[in-house]
Amino acid sequence: MQDGDIKFASKASRFNSSHYDFVSDVWHIIFGENFHAGYFKQPGESFSVATNNLTEAMAALGRFSKESKVLDVGCGIGGPAIFLHEKFGCHVHGITISEKGTQIANESARQKGYSSHLKFTVADATDNKLPDESFDIVWGMESFHLMDDKARVFAECYRVLKRGGQLLLCDNMAGNHRLSDAEAVAHYKELRLLERVFGKTRTETLAGYESAARAAGFKDIVSRDINEQTMPPTIKYFRNKVKSQYQELVDLSSKQYINDFLGMCDTWEHFNRLGVMSYGLLRGTKPAA
Ligand code: SAH
Repeated sequence: MQDGDIKFASKASRFNSSHYDFVSDVWHIIFGENFHAGYFKQPGESFSVATNNLTEAMAALGRFSKESKVLDVGCGIGGPAIFLHEKFGCHVHGITISEKGTQIANESARQKGYSSHLKFTVADATDNKLPDESFDIVWGMESFHLMDDKARVFAECYRVLKRGGQLLLCDNMAGNHRLSDAEAVAHYKELRLLERVFGKTRTETLAGYESAARAAGFKDIVSRDINEQTMPPTIKYFRNKVKSQYQELVDLSSKQYINDFLGMCDTWEHFNRLGVMSYGLLRGTKPAA
């Protein structure tokens, strides 16, 4: 993608656009079709089952039908959109800032014969240019933490939803232990490491997401902390997977990136234990009238 093809709403979006182009192939091996955490219901479950469990847990909060028009905000390489279409028969329009992500996703949809129901385009979710009141469901799966202006992304989700429509999201969130300035300085290296692995992020607590959703106009907010079922087992999986396919992953990206990825596993575990990082699910509804 050429600079100028899309007007990014922020510097973070511009940075993350090339970051997600860069990680697409290597994450495809590490994560599979779904660029999100696993939701482990029982010990020993495989990561691919666990990532689909998370999609199911989020979908269970929504009202889907064959006619539903779904906007997938931050669609990765299309795994969740394909899953939703296979389960409900719905239409999904996925948007992402990664051109590479849209190419992989459109090709997967084409190979499965789903192109009449699924499409993936490049757009910044904080200024998505889509028409008002055109979707029944907005789906934000592990993408909001990559957008620094939470008010804008919630406002955009609200604007494009039809009245009575639902916003469903899950995300890496800040835990209840906020790093003090002194702690942030002490953990500077680890914070930079997370940025090299995931891109520029701004995490928010579950309570912060609830109030941002309410401020945008959403009602009937339902939220759940699902940290324990997601983060510790996902990190354990990441570490084993990356160690077992180390050289292949280095060849697809770089030694620096894969070593950073392994370092991230330790940092994430540490921050998760401290209560700095967490994981949550949320649903909000745009009032019918
Ligand atoms: N929801 C997908 C991907 C999660 S990874 C899945 O669960 O498989 C985060 C995704 O958010 C990536 O596709 C990234 O390109 C996208 N993203 C990050 N910032 C964005 C922005 N400002 N607008 C749209 N998409 C964004």
